[in-house]
Amino acid sequence: MIYGILFFALVLVVFIAFRKMRKKPVKSFPENWKSLLLDNVRFYQNLSEENKSVFRKRMMLFLSEVHIEGVSVDLIDLDKILIAASAVIPVFGFPEWHYNNLTGVLLYPNHFNENLDFQDEAKSKVIGGLIGTGRFENQMILSKKALYHGFSNQTDKHNTAVHEFVHLMDKADGVTDGIPERMLEHQYIGPWLQLMHQEMEAINNDKSDIRRYGGTSEIEFFAVASEYFFERPALFKRKHPELYEMLAQCFQQKPKAR
Ligand SMILES: [Zn+2]
Repeated sequence: MIYGILFFALVLVVFIAFRKMRKKPVKSFPENWKSLLLDNVRFYQNLSEENKSVFRKRMMLFLSEVHIEGVSVDLIDLDKILIAASAVIPVFGFPEWHYNNLTGVLLYPNHFNENLDFQDEAKSKVIGGLIGTGRFENQMILSKKALYHGFSNQTDKHNTAVHEFVHLMDKADGVTDGIPERMLEHQYIGPWLQLMHQEMEAINNDKSDIRRYGGTSEIEFFAVASEYFFERPALFKRKHPELYEMLAQCFQQKPKAR
């Protein structure tokens, strides 16, 4: 009997220790980050005071779960703020969301090519962000230049980091296919496919104001339309009312526009 209890206690201690080891503590939001966040992230500016506080907590939770590393970049506070904000924006409607398919973000100084080369002499450096595969599985690679451009230009419907996090949300059901089964209820999948194909055709016929890259595949359409939805929600709603309702359903939120 006594051995039974001892054994049970031992299992419990090991279990608790293991859980503690696995989880990094969530730090409180640094005071000096508040103005940086407010000055640079419009989505945050438009939130109520209550939601601003939730947003900050979610950023810190993200930073406790995902490791950010600079590659030829000395990380500064604003790098972490913009990455964490990009992560929280698309999942803000899901209070319990964790990016289980992401362990780290590598920040490169500049755009890079297919070989992940960002050096001056490297050719065709056009990639601003990607979700890694193979030895980069569960990693996101972001160009610092693209990350900052996404937040400094608030009208071009383009935000590379948000785009990549939307890919991760798409991937949460196991496959990246432009059909976010984890987020959209079954009955919406058919209508979503129909709306998507219609608009992709419009893009490819030069009859849409959605970025051309969205016409290249269903995967990219979902991410590109989402960038637009989060950056220019009012314009998106006016130009694409049905798609707007669908994405609002999908992300469980209607971003505010000023
Ligand atoms: Zn993409």
